[in-house]
Amino acid sequence: MSFTYNKKNAKCMWCKRTQNPHPDYSYETIPTKVFTTQKGKEVELCFSCYENEKIISKDNDILLKKNLDLKLESLKLLNL
Ligand SMILES: [Zn+2]
Repeated sequence: MSFTYNKKNAKCMWCKRTQNPHPDYSYETIPTKVFTTQKGKEVELCFSCYENEKIISKDNDILLKKNLDLKLESLKLLNL
């Protein structure tokens, strides 16, 4: 799983962080990766949020993509 480091305008769509959480790299942007949900939407996540999703989905890729859709839709409903 390769994450993009120091990407311009990187922002995790779940935790909203934009800064690298590692103190040595705090001047860099947060490493993120863009995932495609089951419905074909793009979700940009940081490593720790992705790890959480992986745990929730029990490492099942199909379930993970479904969960990303569910979360994306609930964020929209809450207008976050
Ligand atoms: Zn995050």
